[in-house]
Amino acid sequence: MTFEDLGLSPALLSAIADAGYEKPTPIQEGAIPVALTGRDVLGIAQTGTGKTASFTLPMIERLSRGRARARMPRSLVLAPTRELAAQVADNVKLYAKNHKLNMALLIGGVSFEPQKKILDQGADILIATPGRLLDHFERGGLLLTGVDILVIDEADRMLDMGFIPDIERILKLLPPRRQTLFFSATMPSEIKHLVDTFLRDPERVEVTRPAQTAETITQYILRVSDNQARTKREALRAAINRDGVKNGIIFCNRKRDVDIVARSLQRHGFSAAPIHGDLDQSQRTKTLAEFKSGELRLLVASDVAARGLDIPAVSHVFNVDIPRNADDYVHRIGRTGRAGHKGEAVTLVSSEDSKALAKVVKLIGKEPEELKLSEDTQAAPAQDAAPQTEQSEDKPKSRRRSRSRNKAEAESPAAEPAKAEAASESVSETEAAPRKGRSSRNERSQRQDKKERPDRHERDLSPVGFGDHVPEFLLRPAL
Ligand code: ADP
Ligand code: MG
Repeated sequence: MTFEDLGLSPALLSAIADAGYEKPTPIQEGAIPVALTGRDVLGIAQTGTGKTASFTLPMIERLSRGRARARMPRSLVLAPTRELAAQVADNVKLYAKNHKLNMALLIGGVSFEPQKKILDQGADILIATPGRLLDHFERGGLLLTGVDILVIDEADRMLDMGFIPDIERILKLLPPRRQTLFFSATMPSEIKHLVDTFLRDPERVEVTRPAQTAETITQYILRVSDNQARTKREALRAAINRDGVKNGIIFCNRKRDVDIVARSLQRHGFSAAPIHGDLDQSQRTKTLAEFKSGELRLLVASDVAARGLDIPAVSHVFNVDIPRNADDYVHRIGRTGRAGHKGEAVTLVSSEDSKALAKVVKLIGKEPEELKLSEDTQAAPAQDAAPQTEQSEDKPKSRRRSRSRNKAEAESPAAEPAKAEAASESVSETEAAPRKGRSSRNERSQRQDKKERPDRHERDLSPVGFGDHVPEFLLRPAL
């Protein structure tokens, strides 16, 4: 099938050709013709399958006739993070280059005035994170009653980040007669509920995972001798020092571990930087740009920060921890082995991780190979982690810090609130189970991600002026 077959206009087809796309991806093939008719679409496909064009192309086509009225955007795209919203905006700009459509972007870290001007003039497309949108709606100056097309992108990430109540509020502000295009990589029950409540007779377009994990990815597990964070960091360095490791993304389950691991790698002379929701916008944008350009070799990331980011092929993915949610394992390792390139995923496994490993094995339907490192690069023996014998691993200051963290983690969840929260992050599901039976994914995610909410976080920041971090497209008032 070709893009011509999907019923797109010559203006769009020419922009698509300029983007270098030869044929539609499966989710695009399924979603675009349906969305062009005005029907609601529920699109389910993994990260990296081209979902953005699945909704932006039909949206541009349908908006190409008609004009926006002042302060009444004609379409609204909601994305969970600033980066994802900015990526959608980049895509719109690319595909709509032959159209006269105004686009506004409401995200943190970007000055509001120029965006407000576009909204005042009349925006055809408004792209926003949920929190920012509600903030600006509450301040007035924005009417949502003219929204003909609503897009909810990365819905499962919205859930993970606790945005479902915000989404429900926004949905109630929109006219009931509208088209809704709803995209998600997975369909947990809370998302299903949202779809059942707010979509009208949607066409479900589902692209199943290609055999769970791509065959171009070799998966390894690397067993570490004890549960010390230091031991894992040492094993990580050994794994990175193997032949063929060009660049990589290193995943940690916890935000603070992202920082610790990144700092530790830097101290050991690796080109590494962290990316997670607590870092400010300019830093995240800069880090991502450096990683994309190849200037930065190793990106240390949390799931939330990495989900959906359009990161070019990497040779390796390292999991310092096995993700709590087995689906995330598939997302993580999908960062390598793209487009027919070979890739490797190395997951560090301690005895504490055996439950999580079993869940992953069940999901992917196979046992990853055991990675054996040669003698000299092997993970450090257990006693090395003991305070008296600690050697050159980290500089004293951070060694103290990381040890005190380990202590906080080991304390009981009944300790003072801040520590209890930290501890609950590391509580395994079986530990949590007797208290309350199996907690729902939502509860668990909200607990885990309580602090990892960029959008909430960004609300606390007053808008900063244009700095060097402002994406280039934002400097132009309209397309
Ligand atoms: P998703 O939202 O499903 O994670 P994206 O929309 O971000 O995926 O697309 C992933 C990458 O694939 C982007 O770099 C995008 O430019 C590219 N892409 C999208 N559609 C096509 C296509 N039809 N042909 C080639 N590349 C495409
Ligand atoms: Mg996407």
